[in-house]
Order: sequence, then structure tokens, then C-alpha cells
Amino acid sequence: MSLLVVGSVAFDAIETPFGKTDKIVGGAATYISLCASYFTKDVQLVGVVGDDFPAETIESFKQHGIDTEGLQIKQGEKSFFWSGRYHNDMNSRDTLVTELNVLADFDPILPESYRYPEFVMLGNLAPKVQQTVLERLGHRPRLVVMDTMNFWMEIALDDLKQTLMMVDVLTINDEEARLLSGEYSLVKAARKVLTMGPKFLIIKKGEHGALLFHENEVFFAPALPLEDVFDPTGAGDTFAGGFIGYLAKTKDISFENMKRAIIHGSAMASFCVEKFGTERLIGLTQGDIHDRVEQFRKLSQFDFQLA
Ligand code: AMP
Repeated sequence: MSLLVVGSVAFDAIETPFGKTDKIVGGAATYISLCASYFTKDVQLVGVVGDDFPAETIESFKQHGIDTEGLQIKQGEKSFFWSGRYHNDMNSRDTLVTELNVLADFDPILPESYRYPEFVMLGNLAPKVQQTVLERLGHRPRLVVMDTMNFWMEIALDDLKQTLMMVDVLTINDEEARLLSGEYSLVKAARKVLTMGPKFLIIKKGEHGALLFHENEVFFAPALPLEDVFDPTGAGDTFAGGFIGYLAKTKDISFENMKRAIIHGSAMASFCVEKFGTERLIGLTQGDIHDRVEQFRKLSQFDFQLA
């Protein structure tokens, strides 16, 4: 049984206080699948690119063991393009450009071998498309995780609310949780979002870590304090890829195991931000990942007796 990943596969242009890139490869599904491929060799990618997308990148997906049969290449069309500029704190950014291009009328076609995944990661994409993917599956997967962003809350809220009814876990950042719920307090926001469909909610807070909410329980994982954050683009997607990749590897979807999955997601995201784009996600070893997870364990572990 496999992990099906759908999302944007894109070109990004990024500006941070440390520099600027021309068009580089990005996209939610790119980060998610590359990251998840370190946990499971059964990643199936659904997405669409134009004929401007580099063949070498598709080749590198394959080298990571990612099944790209579901990645459509549209001749004569352009890939999705996103451009963003980070503020000095690197925790917030402005979107400068969103050109949907091939994503504007994306019809997510699932090859037959993709129709029975155990895990599904709906990466950032039009909520209607995320929904279509679920409708085209041959069964109800064990776990569906969905990511989305303010862009879709602003232009497709009704679709988004429908899709939310079909998923188990939602991952959004703090700003998006406030926008979706209309509540400033993240605890109140979480309570509200948990009535909209998902049974679990992860609120990502960038350098301030991530919160997992489920019923009346909350778990908090810190982010690794890094000397230099070079480019936060894709950190949220990498986090999601590590989270679901770990669950797919361990096949345990309990709240306790989700805590461990969050730590793995956070560890993977800490690699992502160390270089521009996906650069740091290529060629990691299991030893690198193990050491980083161990750093996380030490960062937040303490032991004392309650009086
Ligand atoms: P993150 O930094 O994890 O929030 O994700 C950044 C990635 O999201 C970039 O690589 C973009 O290509 C992609 N992205 C940005 N806006 C959208 C959008 N509206 N739909 C799908 N993907 C997007």
C-alpha cells in the first residue's frame, strides 16, 4: 500500500534578505514527495507541469523512488509559477506573483495503480482538485492529510469547506488558522476548525514550531533553533512530507505516533530551510535524518518529578 501525493509542481522565484533566485523548481508536491521518499519507497505523485519543466528534475524524482506516472506534462503550456518575498524575520512573506498556468484547468487523472493508496497527502492546490482526487479513489484511504493556504481561503472558501469534510488531518499555519476560523486565539481557532471536518489539526508556526490538536488534547513540537535560515520556502510542505512519510512508514495513526511524526516533519523542515529551494532535500542520508531527530529529542526532553 502506498502514499499518494497531489499538489503543485512548480517554478518559484524567491527573495530573502540573503539573496534572490531566478526561477527554481518548487511546488508543494515537489517538497512533499522528495521529503516523504526518505521514509517510504512507495510515493505516487499526481500533478501537472508544462513542457518548460526540466526533464532532469523528473529524473531526480524517479531516482528518489517516486512514481511519476501521475505527473502530466502539458505540451505547449507553462508550469505553475509562484514568487514570494520574505520579511526580515523570515517568518512571514508576501506573495508577489501567482500564475496558475497549467494548474488553471488541471484534471487530476489517477493511473489505475494509484487508486488504492493507504495514505493520501493533499498538498496545496485548488480545493476542488483535491476533492476530485479523493472522489476518484477506489476506496477510503486509512488517512487523508490536507494542506491549504490563505490564497484558497480567499478565492474558493466554499469548495475548501467541502473538501475539509473529507479529510482527517489539516495542516495550516497560524495566520491561515485565524483566517479560516475568524478567531485570533489559536486554541479557539483550533476548536472551531475541528468542527469543520478534520479530526486532527496541525498549526505550523514557522520558527516557533507546530501544534497538534485532537479532541481536547494538544501537543507542541518546537522548531530547531538554527543559526542561519536561508530560505523558508517549502518548509511547510517538507514538514507535511515528513509527517505523513513517517506515518506511512510506521503504519500507526494513533495520536501518540502523530507526535513522533510531527517531530520527524519538523526535523525534515529544518533541513529544507538551510538552502534555497529543494537543494538540501537532495542526497540526505538516513544518518543525517537520525542525527537531526535526535537533536530534536534532546531539545525538548526534560525529566522531573511533580511535587
Ligand atoms: P510553503 O513554503 O511550504 O508554504 O510552500 C511553498 C510552495 O507552495 C512553493 O514552492 C509554491 O510553488 C507553492 N505554492 C504557492 N502558492 C500556491 C498555490 N496557490 N497553489 C499551489 N501551490 C502553491
